Amino acid sequence: AGHVRFEDVKFGYDADRLILKGIDLDVPAGHTLAVVGPSGAGKSTLARLMYRFYDLTSGRITIDGQDIAQVTQASLRAAIGIVPQDTVLFNDTIGYNIGYGREGAGRDEIEAAARGAAISTFIEGQSDGYDTRVGERGLKLSGGEKQRVAIARTLLKNPPILILDEATSALDSRTEGEIQATLEDIERGRTTIVIAHRLSTIVHADEIVVLEAGEVVERGSHAALLRRN
Ligand code: ADP
Ligand code: ADP
Repeated sequence: AGHVRFEDVKFGYDADRLILKGIDLDVPAGHTLAVVGPSGAGKSTLARLMYRFYDLTSGRITIDGQDIAQVTQASLRAAIGIVPQDTVLFNDTIGYNIGYGREGAGRDEIEAAARGAAISTFIEGQSDGYDTRVGERGLKLSGGEKQRVAIARTLLKNPPILILDEATSALDSRTEGEIQATLEDIERGRTTIVIAHRLSTIVHADEIVVLEAGEVVERGSHAALLRRN
């Protein structure tokens, strides 16, 4: 499950200015699609449309053939997990930050998600483990550590579709490489849409589309795009 299609999707925040000007995408279940392009091209907008933050001006987005306009908000949220660029954590425990909003998740599941996100490196040595408080009055986490908490939260949800919206863009290149490896692990078996601006982070994508001013100007494999540019 998780076949995502965009069919001639047009969208503008204002009626008189289209931000996306007719986008066609076909992401088979389990594939990774990367979307690259300059700032302002419409990449984040494209991601927001997938969880129906806004209604389309025209066109259709489908998941497994079903128009997302016909799906409840709750089932869309269950189907799609998002790792954003900057994760804002609550001033609470690590366990709380991973598990909030995931009613019914037990301690074992939270710990398994945390292992999947490889957050053990900064929990180890903390006498309170998952009960360690983070934030202003607790443990200060680095940008990469915060992203690992966000990844654990997404793993706990276990969605068939993942959106990584510049999930590593704010990190230094060494941390980016480390988080990248974890992300590629969790992408396996899920349909993933990666929004990125460095081509080096999306070598593994099945397809890359280049978005400019709301239009797909190029598409192909990483190797094909490098040959052409
Ligand atoms: P990217 O992610 O490629 O940098 P965005 O999707 O964030 O691009 O933005 C595409 C365009 O839409 C930009 O011109 C931006 O100013 C505009 N835009 C983004 N969000 C809003 C909004 N909430 N209201 C109005 N315009 C917006
Ligand atoms: P949950 O719905 O279970 O909290 P997520 O943590 O995956 O699941 O977050 C999904 C919701 O969070 C989206 O429906 C959206 O409302 C909001 N959200 C997460 N990341 C972003 C983002 N980068 N931009 C805007 N909204 C976001």
